[in-house]
Amino acid sequence: MNIQAMTPAAEKIRLAETDDGTILFKVPFPKEMKDIQHMSPIIIKQPYHIDYIHSYGQDSPFFAGLANGKLLGTKCPKCKYTYGTPKAHCMECGSPTEWFELPEVGRIHTFTVCHRGGEEFLKETPFILVLVEWDKVDTLFLSRLVGVDTSKPSLKMVGMKIKAQFKRNAKFRPTDVYFVPAE
Ligand SMILES: [Zn+2]
Repeated sequence: MNIQAMTPAAEKIRLAETDDGTILFKVPFPKEMKDIQHMSPIIIKQPYHIDYIHSYGQDSPFFAGLANGKLLGTKCPKCKYTYGTPKAHCMECGSPTEWFELPEVGRIHTFTVCHRGGEEFLKETPFILVLVEWDKVDTLFLSRLVGVDTSKPSLKMVGMKIKAQFKRNAKFRPTDVYFVPAE
């Protein structure tokens, strides 16, 4: 049998074209190969998605609290050390801790105005990060402060009363809670 008779001409062998993913039309190409090293880089934007399944484990009550408008801290029943964050075991004595609801109103312990941010927060710069303190709580809580002019930061803000506010649609992230001036 003549093999040539069975094989289509080479130029007719083609993979199917698809219209998903990135398509660039009419990409310029230099006439002379010597010019190709001077071409501008091609920059494309493409979606990137991955489903990541992970457990919040012993921190789960903290996130359940955020979804229900409650900010939970932890307390050691043995040595009485009190944490403004989820902490399954006491850092001082190692005992299992107990959950409690943090006071509604806290104070700014310290703050910083962020003019740069990671990709997620880039659009929101400048924004304010605060370390929140509460009476009778031994550690601080890092959070966002909104409702304060970021162009006029002042040391007078230290000690200012602030209160927790919660996103209506919880995303089960620490950013589900943020702080606003309490008065
Ligand atoms: Zn303890």
